[in-house]
Amino acid sequence: MKLCQYHWNKLIEAIQADGLGDLIPQGPLELVRRIHSRKADGINQTNFDPVSLANDLITIWSVSSIGRDDLMSAASQCPICFFDVPQWIEKASNDSGEAWRKICSF
Ligand SMILES: [Zn+2]
Repeated sequence: MKLCQYHWNKLIEAIQADGLGDLIPQGPLELVRRIHSRKADGINQTNFDPVSLANDLITIWSVSSIGRDDLMSAASQCPICFFDVPQWIEKASNDSGEAWRKICSF
């Protein structure tokens, strides 16, 4: 499942509103560097990406909400639209901010 453009923009807006805008990777090279770094070293202050984390959370919630019968029809759709859960945007952004504050407190 992949967020539609509308909900993708909403997610970016929510993350910026939560004060995490400066942590969003600038450009595809930085995005890829952080993905590789997270795989190699786990999540830390140098590879944190609030958008990726929020998006992963939405994917996890989707997988746990989905029925087996829905799986095929839902796969190509935006999870927020499919489940009609606009509140997940705010929750994912909040949880991402909480994760960042935890990482910084180590
Ligand atoms: Zn959508």
